Amino acid sequence: MNIVVCVKQVPDTYSERTLKASDSTLDRDAADAVINELDEYAVEEGLRLAEAHGGEVTILSMGPARAADTIRKALSMGADKAVHLVDDALAGSDVLGTSAAIAAVLGQVGFDLVILGSESTDARTGVLAAMLAERLGVPQLSYANEVKIDGTAITIHRLTDYGYDTVQASLPAVVSVVEKINEPRYPSFKGIMAAKKKPVTVLSLADINVDPGEIGLASAATQVVSFAKRPARQAGTIVTDEGDGGAKAAEFLATQKFI
Ligand SMILES: Cc1cc2nc3c(=O)[nH]c(=O)nc-3n(C[C@H](O)[C@H](O)[C@H](O)COP(=O)(O)OP(=O)(O)OC[C@H]3O[C@@H](n4cnc5c(N)ncnc54)[C@H](O)[C@@H]3O)c2cc1C
Repeated sequence: MNIVVCVKQVPDTYSERTLKASDSTLDRDAADAVINELDEYAVEEGLRLAEAHGGEVTILSMGPARAADTIRKALSMGADKAVHLVDDALAGSDVLGTSAAIAAVLGQVGFDLVILGSESTDARTGVLAAMLAERLGVPQLSYANEVKIDGTAITIHRLTDYGYDTVQASLPAVVSVVEKINEPRYPSFKGIMAAKKKPVTVLSLADINVDPGEIGLASAATQVVSFAKRPARQAGTIVTDEGDGGAKAAEFLATQKFI
């Protein structure tokens, strides 16, 4: 089975994340960069399915040159090889543009199953999986907390507010996973060393026949027209209980229209 796992490099959530004044895009160089949290679960699920059903796991990432570190991290978990789509013209792509570029790579490298995290921690649009499935003309199974493969049938289990869904489709397909699906393995020292030798194919937009004019900030369907820092957190109200703490707290909640 040919499994492709999409992995995004994102700013560390504990770093200060800022948008550039020049073009309102995320200043990725200003923050530490890490693998998107949910993508470690996506890589782990890919590895488990390949171990159970045979086949290869390919990591696919679209990002600047420094995304190579994130790709190596995914390879050190045990993936076999990787594809890195890197091109200056990709900068500032919105999710429509990102989906066009990644779908073009998937069309070129081929796949039986594409696995993604259900959302990234920086943009959180949570729609890339659906857009890829639409562009590739294959089924999408989303928010999976369990994935089963039986021949060419794929079945997922999805937790919902009202219980759970069992969704089935035929491969090839796109699946997005949630963090409850597994426990990602930690890269072993052997895995980290082996990752240095694993093949990474670096592709540009020309390599995938995508017109740079259709991608990137200039042709994005969405524009950030303004942004502002979140106001500093206000100091809380301190209620001193002199036997009337309950009344004061109730009065405070009433003035805040909480009750
Ligand atoms: C702060 C911020 C706000 C943004 N707001 C918008 C917006 O409102 N509308 C819009 O169209 N675009 C927006 N973008 C751009 C959008 O983030 C990118 O196009 C992004 O690459 C795809 O969207 P996502 O991360 O939200 O995808 P999601 O659907 O949230 O990501 C789900 C999964 O897709 C995979 N994935 C996402 N990006 C990549 C990648 N580059 N390479 C490999 N795998 C990937 C990962 O597996 C990830 O877990 C925003 C970007 C930022 C930084």
